[in-house]
Amino acid sequence: MDVKNDLRSKIRDIPDYPKPGILFKDITPMLSDAKSFSDCISELCKEVESKVGTIDYVLGIEARGFIIGSALAYKMGVGFIPARKKGKLPYKKISVDYTIEYGKDTIEVHEDSVPKGSRVLIADDLLATGGTAKAAATLVEKLGGTVSGFAFVIWLSQLEGEKLIGSDPIYLIKY
Ligand code: AMP
Repeated sequence: MDVKNDLRSKIRDIPDYPKPGILFKDITPMLSDAKSFSDCISELCKEVESKVGTIDYVLGIEARGFIIGSALAYKMGVGFIPARKKGKLPYKKISVDYTIEYGKDTIEVHEDSVPKGSRVLIADDLLATGGTAKAAATLVEKLGGTVSGFAFVIWLSQLEGEKLIGSDPIYLIKY
């Protein structure tokens, strides 16, 4: 089995979670398999290097974006910026409200987390409507950074998140 098909086989569908009508893509079987997790990060790293080039930071969105984004940052040898849910960051911060496939939320970053002019890749486990990734991009731009690209393990392409983020995402598995 090739790498992407192996990864696809380790993503579990959970119907009607967390709300009726949502088909939740559960990446935990992929994460707990050492080879699959390692392959996932290596493949995503290759895609980012070929499509985006040099970056200064990976910004990961709480919570699954921390898993993918921090591993990716480590692999790429760059810093990691956590975008956290409301009320979790201890220092001065900026916030943005957004909607996702199944609800509303707020994310925040520390106001000194994105040096002006730095190139930031936004990473998460999955792109659905694009609301979350767009909110993260807004935070980066408010702080004077440049969004170099968006990287996901999974792209739910029917939800057309690429329209909201304004570019085709980097991804490994498309549904
Ligand atoms: P969106 O903002 O609509 O692109 O939603 C993306 C965010 O919500 C990501 O952080 C995902 O982890 C989560 N998410 C949205 N839809 C799903 C889904 N069907 N399965 C798993 N996670 C999802």
